[in-house]
Amino acid sequence: MGDAGTPGDAPSTAATAIGESGTPTAGERMRRRVYLLALLVGVPAVFATWAVRGETDAFIGVLYLPFGALLTLLGLGMLTRRLSVARAERVALVTVSAFVLAQVAWLVHTAPDLASAQLALSESSFLNVVILFLFSFLALETRDGVRLSTAIYAALTVIIGSRVLPEVLAGAPVTGLLGFVRALVALGAILLLLRGLAHLKDQLAASEDDAQRLEGLAHTDALTGLPNRRALQAALTERLSGEDDCSVIVIDVDHFKLVNDAHGHEVGDAVLRAVGTALEQETRRGDLVGRWGGEEFLVLASGGADAAQRLAGRAREALARLHHPVVGRVTASFGVATQRGAESPHELLSRADRAVYEAKAAGRNRVAKAA
Ligand code: GH3
Ligand code: MG
Ligand code: MG
Repeated sequence: MGDAGTPGDAPSTAATAIGESGTPTAGERMRRRVYLLALLVGVPAVFATWAVRGETDAFIGVLYLPFGALLTLLGLGMLTRRLSVARAERVALVTVSAFVLAQVAWLVHTAPDLASAQLALSESSFLNVVILFLFSFLALETRDGVRLSTAIYAALTVIIGSRVLPEVLAGAPVTGLLGFVRALVALGAILLLLRGLAHLKDQLAASEDDAQRLEGLAHTDALTGLPNRRALQAALTERLSGEDDCSVIVIDVDHFKLVNDAHGHEVGDAVLRAVGTALEQETRRGDLVGRWGGEEFLVLASGGADAAQRLAGRAREALARLHHPVVGRVTASFGVATQRGAESPHELLSRADRAVYEAKAAGRNRVAKAA
């Protein structure tokens, strides 16, 4: 048995689709707990039924003991985490399905007449089958849920048909059929309803994924993969209204136009990507680096003016160390500004821009602090 949630572990189930990373997700942990609780109640009930009714009821006498033993094994497997939730679900589903179908077959085929067969069926088996359908769609991916529940339905039809049809053909009143037909029609309708709901759920999940992907794209710079201007603007507005001091560092690559002119736009693009990566490597947790536009980058730095100043210094050195195979040395000028009172994003950025301008005027490849 595989370890809980390893990638190779029945990866097509809904369960592992969430927990493919290897560590069980919150959802898996919760399901594990629910199943263990259900087994804690269910297994003693199975054994108790076997002990009490096993001698008088042949079906219970023969099948409840191995069934209880299998459930115990499943529980132990999940408890010791040797069995992933996804695999336990599959084994349990298939076993319980076979068990319920065997019980239906037993009830229907050992009943003395059609009326008592129908009574036995409607007393418990009908509900069991509905629960099986529900569980198939909850535990499995829609495609597998449809397969299993359809297979159960088909088996049920064969089991019932093989008892009822010969009798009706042999002359039993056709009215004896009606109850069975009604039950099968009702189960079929429930099955179709569940299928529809499962497909709807899949569609919702898919459109949620799409929305998330689009949201990501709308906030990502296509060239560098860094947050784009939109994302930076939103983050800056949020940070400025927060409690902590917020600093911005505007970074403008020096003489970048010359890079493009001398080596072409594609080499220029590669340089921009390298600059983005270098800046990202220098930032700490809580900092946000993104591409502001063109050859300008922006860092939202956490932790006071001095920290921002030091970060800008480190980033400048890192860029200056960067040696592009075609272009050679790449430098940039840095402007650092720290929030003052209830300053607007625009005001803060303007001060940082002016600082960049000063850094350029003072000879480039340097950090200037905003007034
Ligand atoms: P300075 O040191 O004064 O900043 O000089 P500069 O040449 O870097 O500044 P300028 O604003 O004159 O030129 C910026 C150049 O950046 C011009 C533009 O073609 C180039 N640029 C802007 N966006 C991109 C891009 O996405 N890819 C490439 N390859 N070049 C870009
Ligand atoms: Mg510029
Ligand atoms: Mg520039």
